[in-house]
Order: sequence, then structure tokens, then C-alpha cells
Amino acid sequence: MQNVIIFGAGPAGLAAGYELVKNGIQPTLFEKDEQVGGISKTIQYHGNYFDLGGHRFFTKLNDVNQLWQEVLGDKFLKRPRQSRIYYKNKFFNYPLTAMNALMGVGFVDTARILLSYANTKIFPNKEEITFEQWVSNRFGKRLFSIFFKTYTEKVWGIPCSEIQAEWAAQRIKGLSLYQAVVNALFKPKGNKITTLIDEFDYPEYGPGMMYNDMRQKIEERGGKVELHEKTAEVFHDGSRVTSVRIENENGESRRIEGSDFLSSIPITELVTIMSPSAPEAVLNAAKSLKYRSLITVDITVDQKQLFTDNWIYIHSPEVKLGRIQNFKNWSPSMVADPNKSTLGLEYFCNENDDFWNLGDSKIFELAADEVAKIKICKREKIEDFVVVRVPKAYPVYDMNYPKHIATIRKYLAGFANLQPIGRYGMFKYNNMDHSIQTGLYAARNILSGKQTFDVWNVNTDDEYHEEKKE
Ligand SMILES: Cc1cc2nc3c(=O)[nH]c(=O)nc-3n(C[C@H](O)[C@H](O)[C@H](O)COP(=O)(O)OP(=O)(O)OC[C@H]3O[C@@H](n4cnc5c(N)ncnc54)[C@H](O)[C@@H]3O)c2cc1C
Repeated sequence: MQNVIIFGAGPAGLAAGYELVKNGIQPTLFEKDEQVGGISKTIQYHGNYFDLGGHRFFTKLNDVNQLWQEVLGDKFLKRPRQSRIYYKNKFFNYPLTAMNALMGVGFVDTARILLSYANTKIFPNKEEITFEQWVSNRFGKRLFSIFFKTYTEKVWGIPCSEIQAEWAAQRIKGLSLYQAVVNALFKPKGNKITTLIDEFDYPEYGPGMMYNDMRQKIEERGGKVELHEKTAEVFHDGSRVTSVRIENENGESRRIEGSDFLSSIPITELVTIMSPSAPEAVLNAAKSLKYRSLITVDITVDQKQLFTDNWIYIHSPEVKLGRIQNFKNWSPSMVADPNKSTLGLEYFCNENDDFWNLGDSKIFELAADEVAKIKICKREKIEDFVVVRVPKAYPVYDMNYPKHIATIRKYLAGFANLQPIGRYGMFKYNNMDHSIQTGLYAARNILSGKQTFDVWNVNTDDEYHEEKKE
């Protein structure tokens, strides 16, 4: 009898659990939080619903689309997308459109952008290893520094010259500046690209709705989802995992045996709780991997309409604020009182740095001053707030991470019945769909009894995530 244990009940763990129960295996999921959904959960506060960031449901993966429709179906809303960049008191389209960007920066900067672009064409960066090289080669150094550098460095907390280029290819539409201007002037012919940008699916009450429903479906079919239960130790015999120690919120432990184990907890944590412990080199590799964390300051504003975007990127360096979500524009049902608006103000930081450790009211004061400073809303209109800390929101793709991950992967591959899945479970900059796909693959490997699917093969292409070649 197969006894499958899953660490973590975010999208990856839940998708794996759901795939298993649908096929006759009842797994147990252990989740340390008080609710399921991981980074994709929805917080409820004073009748309002807050997403941690904004989670668009869009995918090129058929398996995942099918799963989302199966779970939520007609509870999905089709939402129009609008997002802009705020820079030097002006708004610019995002994704960037050539004419809007060039017109918006004014004559002098346009001339500088074009000169810098011409310079890059004559003397391009010979290698495209870093984010800075990749973007500068396509748009020129000047455009890079206006529209990419400040925001990217706010998110990652390290210079763009220390970030891997692979991330840029998936996240930034890679048209050259020249091509973008030509496209803007003359409509391109034979366009075989489907854009996933213009609209997206969103559950009426935020992404948490999807993951709460998935949990319910798992439990209806006999699976278990245990909350407030942390995976604290993983026991093995050198080639197989045999059992785990689970710790509840009161610090009480119990040991559970299993036949197969899926882990969506941070890979850096997994290797430190192996017993007997992992080799020194593996532990050092884990210590060298860095995550970036997120704090969202969710505010209620006594104003019916603030702006039409779903979200705005704040590139201006004079504020620490990185991005603003306007939840009403994601789904009107997220806001309890239709005469008010709610915003999610996103701050990127490191777990336990000075900002992280500021008290909630100090963080709120700073956030309220900043939104007033950039004229998003008046200070006195803010009626309520809640501060949410999201540790390990982003795996940092610095220049050394591939070698550290390779060391950890090699070690974990030595355990035949342990599969890492998900975003921080595999230290991959996954969207929900990639995280879910790894969960589905891992579950199918258990069901077939063979390693048919390589979970590490998910989210490895260099193609822009928001376009699909037909
Ligand atoms: C700001 C932001 C915006 C995003 N926007 C989008 C978007 O628009 N579209 C999109 O598709 N994706 C988006 N994502 C990505 C998405 O959030 C992730 O891909 C997804 O949540 C990852 O799922 P997961 O199950 O791998 O990990 P997680 O969601 O992190 O879940 C892991 C779970 O494991 C639990 N856990 C951790 N340690 C332990 C332990 N020791 N024992 C037991 N449980 C443990 C955690 O509490 C958590 O519930 C966004 C992410 C961020 C940070």
C-alpha cells in the first residue's frame, strides 16, 4: 500500500495531492501555515481579500489549464490587464511600447536613448551572461537604465550585472528597440504569436479560492491536509527516505512513515533537516543560495476609484516602494465596500534585515508617506492597513546559483523515493503553472512507479512567458 507524504500545501503540493487522489492514492499533506495556498494564498482582513502580490492565472501548459478549469470552472473571471510603469512623475505602458516610451521621456532623453542604442549596435556586449548585458544589447544602455535597472534592483537587491540573463529571456519581451519602433510604425505581417498579456483569468475572491477548493477536493476523496504541521526532520537510510518528524505549533513531535515523499518546502531547508545529515558540501551549497523576501502593506482607501491599472511598477528611485496592486481592478468582489478601494503596496527586502524587522506601524507610516509623495492617494484617505511578511518570495538567480543547485540536486537524486517540487522546493523562479506542473509530474511518477517525467525539465525554455507561438 502506497503511503505518500507531501511537505507543503501550496499550489505544487496541492496539485500533486489532487492528481494522486483522483487516481486512487490518498496522500497526507503537512502544511506549517494556518491556511493552504503558500505564496498564492489570499489573506482576508476586515472583509477585504488581499492577494500576496497579484496572481494572474495564465499558462501555456495544457495540463495546468485543464486542472484550473476542473477545480474552479465558472468561478473564474476574465479580467482585462492594464499595468504601467511610474517614473519621474509620469506613467508609461508596460509591457513597454516603443512610441509611448520615447514620447514620454521627452526630446533630450529620446535622443540619448537612440544614440545609446546605436552605440550598442556598433559595440554590443560580446557575452549575454547577465541581465544587464541581455537587456542593454536589445534596448541600449540608456533605455536599460531608465526602464529596467531601478525596478529590477529593487526586487532583487543586487546589481543587474550580478543577475543571470536566463531570467530576462522569460520575463521581458525580447524585441530589439529597432524592431519595436518598426512594429509600432508598420503593423507586422504574418504574426504567429498569441499574446497572453491582454487578459487573464482570476478567481472572484483571489487565488486562495483555487487552492482552498483543491484542498477540499483532496479531502473529499480521502486525502488529508494537516495545517500547523511542520516537516521538521527527514529520516533516510542512504538511498531512500523512510519517515519524517512532524512538529505542531506547540512544538510537539510525531514520526510518520511513508513510501513516497514530495517536498515543496525550501530546498535549502530540506537539505538541513536530513537525518543522517547531508554532506558538508551540500550544506554549504544550501547556505550560499539566497532568497529575496516581500512585505505587502495592504491598505483600505476611502475613495471609489484610484486608477485603472491592475498594478503599477514604481521605478522612481526616490521611494522604496516597488509595486502597487489595485485589487478592485483584479476583481470587484475583493473589496468589501464598493465605495472604497484597497491597494497592496509591495516592498522587497531580505528576511530579517532592518526593514523586515521594523514594527508594522512604522512600515505603514513609511508606505503611507510614499503613496502620498507619488500622488497615488492622499494620506488622510487611508482608513485601515495590515502588514503581511512573505519570506523567501523570490529565489535569487545570482551568478553562482547554478553550481550550488547542481550540488544539491546530485545529493537529492540519491534518494529514489524523494522528489522536490515547486518554486522554492526546487529554487526555481516558477509561476504557479510551472509549480503545479512539477507537482503533477511527480505524482504521475509515483502512480506509474517509474521516473517517467523529469520535474527539472519544467520551466527551462528561454521563451517569453507571456506569448505563445502558434
Ligand atoms: C509577488 C508575487 C507575485 C506572483 N504572481 C504570480 C502570477 O501573477 N502568476 C503566477 O502564476 N505566479 C505568480 N507568482 C508565483 C507563485 O506565487 C508561485 O509559483 C507558487 O505559489 C509556488 O507554489 P509552491 O507550491 O511551489 O510554493 P509555495 O506557494 O511557496 O508553497 C509552499 C508551501 O510550503 C509550506 N512550507 C514551507 N516550509 C514548510 C515546512 N517545513 N513544513 C511544512 N510546510 C512548509 C509553506 O507554508 C507553503 O504553504 C507570484 C509570486 C510572488 C512572490
